[in-house]
Amino acid sequence: MSIFSNVELAPRDPILGLNEQYNADTRPTKVNLGVGVYYDAEGRLPVLKAVQIAEQELAKKVSPRGYLPIEGIATYDKGAQALLLGKDSELSKAGRALTFQALGGTGALKIGADFLKQINPNANVHISNPSWENHRALFERAGFTVNNYPYYDASTHGLDFAAMLAYLDTLPAGDIVILHACCHNPTGVDPSFEQWEQIANTIKAKGLIPFLDIAYQGFGDGLEEDAKVVKLFARLDIPTFVSSSFSKSFSLYGERVGALTILCASKEEADRVLSQVKRTIRTNYSNPPTHGGTVVSMVLNNEELFAQWESELAEMRDRIRSMRSALVQKLKENGVTQNFDFVLAQRGMFSYSGLTQAQVERLRNEHGIYAVNSGRICVAALNPKNIDAVAKAIASVL
Ligand code: PMP
Repeated sequence: MSIFSNVELAPRDPILGLNEQYNADTRPTKVNLGVGVYYDAEGRLPVLKAVQIAEQELAKKVSPRGYLPIEGIATYDKGAQALLLGKDSELSKAGRALTFQALGGTGALKIGADFLKQINPNANVHISNPSWENHRALFERAGFTVNNYPYYDASTHGLDFAAMLAYLDTLPAGDIVILHACCHNPTGVDPSFEQWEQIANTIKAKGLIPFLDIAYQGFGDGLEEDAKVVKLFARLDIPTFVSSSFSKSFSLYGERVGALTILCASKEEADRVLSQVKRTIRTNYSNPPTHGGTVVSMVLNNEELFAQWESELAEMRDRIRSMRSALVQKLKENGVTQNFDFVLAQRGMFSYSGLTQAQVERLRNEHGIYAVNSGRICVAALNPKNIDAVAKAIASVL
């Protein structure tokens, strides 16, 4: 009898499981559209110029690696906050916004979830239907019950806004609502700004706690445009949690670069929150790592490097957009009469393609094209070399 005798085998992560299947596939024409990663036109994971320059600078000097402060590198936190709230944010100036360097967007969500469980243990958490699967798992692990609010409407390939708003209106004060501030994963469907205003007003009126997850800032309409929703919640003086991530926007997935930002009602409140979130971090991993944070901080705080980064981000965004158009165009060329124009309206890396599980399975088995069972495809994995084969294969399974 071992202490592990009763440990059940956990189900495989559906997306990582797909990667394993893809890697084992020996067909040279295989394409992996299952991942949540940006690849360039050559199908490679890019190393951004801005990152290369910062790393070359870093390599020129010997830097000791002492412990960072619990909340991370001060210039990193300041830069991450400015990206969300703007450089001249009144909240920042008043000391009402706190930002903590975190282990990616996931780490930010985890610290936020643990802190929320401490201050608001009886609340329920609500995530979109569908959402990034880890939202549910993270908040359940933190001890919350997690429910779904209506979001995606398969019949229109759009947002079921009326149902979403009606649902929010039924929630008790203090409940926590996870929202994708831009580039919704997995659907690519975002509310319009007018709809966001209604969502924010409902959240404020009902006394709900918004947790904005922004993992794709810059992939929608640009760095500033994509942060409009965060600024809206700030302007309405709503106590708000924000998890942000540089994994995608800096192509620094393995460096675990993210941030947790919390908007408070006063400086005095912020000081108390700061002290408690620091305890949450201290008991999780003590303090964040140095390298990725240093690189991102160098880019965010240097005008030239920032401009370089912004233009590389724009390139990534434009390339994804051009792949959206190419896919829609090529489906037509392959005789598809079904309207796929909704793919053009979707934002970010992903598209809920509307493909059924059976069609996804045929794509995988007959064509070596790997998409998630839900029909989610990563548009950022399409490129001029694979798009013809992908469009042709999709046309053949419709
Ligand atoms: N939130 C969403 C919606 C995401 O899609 C992701 C990444 N897949 C994350 C958070 C986590 O990002 P990170 O890799 O920085 O932990």
